[in-house]
Amino acid sequence: MFPDYHLHSFFSSDCDEKIENIISSAKNKGLKSICITDHYDMDFPPLPDNPDMTFDLDTDEYFNYMSDIRTKHMDDFDLRIGVELGVMEETCEKLNNYCSVHKEIDFFIASSHLVDGLDPYYPEYFEGKSDLQAYYRYFETILYNVKHFKGYNVYGHLDYILRYGKNKANNFNISDYKNLFEEIFKQIIYDGKGIEINTGSLYRGLDFAHPHIDILKMYKHLGGEIITIGSDAHDASHVGYGFDIAKNLLLDNGFKYYCTFKHQKETYNVID
Ligand SMILES: [Zn+2]
Ligand SMILES: [Zn+2]
Repeated sequence: MFPDYHLHSFFSSDCDEKIENIISSAKNKGLKSICITDHYDMDFPPLPDNPDMTFDLDTDEYFNYMSDIRTKHMDDFDLRIGVELGVMEETCEKLNNYCSVHKEIDFFIASSHLVDGLDPYYPEYFEGKSDLQAYYRYFETILYNVKHFKGYNVYGHLDYILRYGKNKANNFNISDYKNLFEEIFKQIIYDGKGIEINTGSLYRGLDFAHPHIDILKMYKHLGGEIITIGSDAHDASHVGYGFDIAKNLLLDNGFKYYCTFKHQKETYNVID
């Protein structure tokens, strides 16, 4: 079973799960290691219907808390400490500084949660746009982010936007975005970064894991090797969710290794 490299706890403002519950769930499922990746979305604008969702993170408090739990379990469990960073064009520079300061963190996921100040979770983002236009703009900002933000290890849920379109992935055709993804992946690979398989979509009503198989194939085709697997669980019961599907996806598409991270340095592990 892969170590789950995308997990949230009560340190995330959209989650109230206890770390001990996450570790128990992981151990029950036979996982020997996980990486908790709580949210930090720098400069997240207050949502009109939910001003408490700040997605702030006191990184020092978080790291110290996690370190104590890591020590407590170190005999039979390898807890890694990560952060999922929300990235926007406006915050790339500040995030570069943040990552260069926080060398103690094992793993950084870069994620696009907002586009042009709007959260695609809300219908406003799609107003006046076709799915294609809305998706295109989302991927365009990822290209900007990978060109300007260099502190991350893998880019998270690359096509998260497909969860929220009017027709979700039904009319998704990679050829509409081919040039964009080629540029995105060339930059990611050139910079020694990677992507993740995120199975969170599977318990949120989509019938595929992120990214869409055609995007995954293009990453592999362009030489992409660095890949992590994460459930994006906000509830301990979802730890490791759909990892059998992720394993088949990786093997069927020619991936022989998955990556784990310590102090932001990758290790390749054989998929067996
Ligand atoms: Zn996310
Ligand atoms: Zn997440």
